[in-house]
Amino acid sequence: MTIEDDRRRLVTQLRAEGIVDARVLAAMASVPREAFVPADIRHHAYENVALPIGAGQTISQPTIVALMAEAACLRPTDRVLEIGTGSGYGAAVLASLAGRVVSVERLDALADGARERLSAEGFGSVRVVVGDGTLGWPAGAPYDAIVVTAGGPDIPDPLIDQLAPGGRLIIPVGPKPSRLDLVRLTRTADGSLARDSLGPVAFVPLVGAHGWAETPPDA
Ligand code: SAH
Repeated sequence: MTIEDDRRRLVTQLRAEGIVDARVLAAMASVPREAFVPADIRHHAYENVALPIGAGQTISQPTIVALMAEAACLRPTDRVLEIGTGSGYGAAVLASLAGRVVSVERLDALADGARERLSAEGFGSVRVVVGDGTLGWPAGAPYDAIVVTAGGPDIPDPLIDQLAPGGRLIIPVGPKPSRLDLVRLTRTADGSLARDSLGPVAFVPLVGAHGWAETPPDA
């Protein structure tokens, strides 16, 4: 089996799991996940599971990456904020679908690695910054979509404030990292907020001023 076969098989799985957006499926078929996972586990890159990337963090499961990208309803001109750069894989998928992507990571070492991988794979336009993403990234606001790839107790107010009219915020929230609900908050044209649920998920903890303390509730 070639890498292309692996990727095609992954897209077939994503379809079977209900991902229908053709642009999202094309992005998942084109971004090389193997380039974003550590070399020693590269042979697992096309398994539809989260994988360890160091510093106790994980690269998200492809189904979740696709589900979040689909829920964000991205257009090619959209400005996107990702919270939790991790490996950089999710940022690469978002950059394939949108205009400008800023991604915030709290851990320096992960941000450095992600920056390197993104530029090596042709996603050098993604801006990776280090900081507490629960505060958003005001300098780039407002955003048409904000995608949070770590789970917290509540929706951080700064993220809501940085959402453009019509903007979509995708974030896992719940009582503990292993019991989260994937929420989409949409700022409607009249400025009000609409909330819908995309189902139960588990994520690494969102650690920050509007997230959990360094030690979150038990998994
Ligand atoms: N999108 C990533 C997923 C990485 S896991 C990928 O495709 O690989 C989530 C990441 O969120 C971790 O790297 C973790 O360090 C980071 N994180 C947790 N809390 C954060 C915060 N407040 N601000 C920015 N990044 C945060």
